[in-house]
Amino acid sequence: MRLKLTRLVLITCTALLGIIALQVFWLVRAYRQQQEKLLSLADNTLLESQLLTGVNASMRAAARSLAGDVLREVSVIAGSATTTDTIVRPVSRHYKIDLGAEYQGMDDSALKKHVLDMMGLDSGSRKTYTVASYKEKVKEGLQAKGADLPFHLALIDADGRIVACTTDTASFLKPSLRTGSMYTLPVSLNPQQSGRIQLSFPSATFYLLKGMGLILVLSLLFITVCACSFSYMVALFYRQKRTAEIKNDFMNNMTHELKTPISSVSVALELLRDESVPVSPEVKAEYFNIAGKELDRLTRLVDKVLRMAAFEKMEVKVLRSHFDVAAWIEEVLQTVRPMAESGKARIDRNIQPPGLQVYADKGQMSSVLQNLLENALKYHDRAKPEIHIQVTAREDERAFSLEVRDNGSGIPAHYRDRIFEKFFRVPSGDNHETSGYGLGLSYAKEIVQLHGGSIQVESEMKKGTTFTIILPKKS
Ligand code: ADP
Repeated sequence: MRLKLTRLVLITCTALLGIIALQVFWLVRAYRQQQEKLLSLADNTLLESQLLTGVNASMRAAARSLAGDVLREVSVIAGSATTTDTIVRPVSRHYKIDLGAEYQGMDDSALKKHVLDMMGLDSGSRKTYTVASYKEKVKEGLQAKGADLPFHLALIDADGRIVACTTDTASFLKPSLRTGSMYTLPVSLNPQQSGRIQLSFPSATFYLLKGMGLILVLSLLFITVCACSFSYMVALFYRQKRTAEIKNDFMNNMTHELKTPISSVSVALELLRDESVPVSPEVKAEYFNIAGKELDRLTRLVDKVLRMAAFEKMEVKVLRSHFDVAAWIEEVLQTVRPMAESGKARIDRNIQPPGLQVYADKGQMSSVLQNLLENALKYHDRAKPEIHIQVTAREDERAFSLEVRDNGSGIPAHYRDRIFEKFFRVPSGDNHETSGYGLGLSYAKEIVQLHGGSIQVESEMKKGTTFTIILPKKS
């Protein structure tokens, strides 16, 4: 069963990791595609701008001759009905460019020269650019294509050296997304050299991730939800498994403890009933005494089981009344007397002021005090000649406090927070044989909290432990 479950958890873990890995793979792929899209957009913009501004001499010449060829097939007219600057529309095999009424009267070649001029291809209209002004042109081109992000522009010579740049060279060379070396045609920015224009995008990662925003957020959200719910499921599963094991132990211990008094009583009764064995009145009295004590123990155990069952079902109700603290402590001490006598314990009580009254559920608080006293007796320090327990009750204007101090073995510091957990027992080689179910303190804490109070522990190894219960007067 255990192996099967471990295997199941392993398989689910692997599947989950697989899904996460796949998701990450798709995200990385989507990011790379966005990067490529941005770079090809930048390359196109560079090409276009080189064409339109004519900074690339050979490209400009090629475009000019191409435009001349195209214009041969085009009728350029100066219309009268329209004010539109340029309208291109098919007229049988030809195209017609209507420049508008203001050009009326120009001859055909002047009109065609004007079109070349408008396209920036006129031979006389060569403009020079600085890297900064050229950057503005490229920026317009990028913005027109929907890519509005900061970039640097540099002119790089044939040896790969930066000739001019819109930022300092070091910033330009910082690792970032940059265009490739596609456009190595000579540019007129620096006519003496053949070079190329390169763009670098310092904040491309942020821009691209922003572009992937929704898909990224949703993927991360689903991955986190899956991972969290899975780990919670595994933790819950192991906790329940542990609780089931502890409950099993509890049942075994309890059965064992119930069996012991039952068999002692049966043996005593058997001996008393057997007429063939002569039994003196003193021995008879002794047997009755043993049977009586064992039955008391049995009653206490059954009581404990019933209390625990009610506690488990959360059926505990607090019925408060005023009662005398000194008499109450004496009553509870009676229930632990046999245990105290067999352990040779000295139990002192200190009630301040004498005649102190408390308003609480007497039955429930008796069980709490009994648990604390039983623990003080059970977890004693074997190295010490005597068990010494001090019960102190006092009150001030605001609260009633009850303290049970012992000189026992103490509780290791790292377990002190856990002793109030249900079924928790301090693992101890020494006290291995000490019986218990790890329920007494969790029960005590629950009852005290139902009274609106608190329970605290102070402990020092080999010196002893003090439990303090505080019940507020108005709760
Ligand atoms: P149980 O005594 O049945 O094991 P409890 O809930 O009463 O369960 O106590 C939880 C654990 O706290 C015990 O197992 C014991 O290790 C530790 N403990 C409680 N009281 C004392 C004490 N007075 N001295 C030392 N250890 C104690």
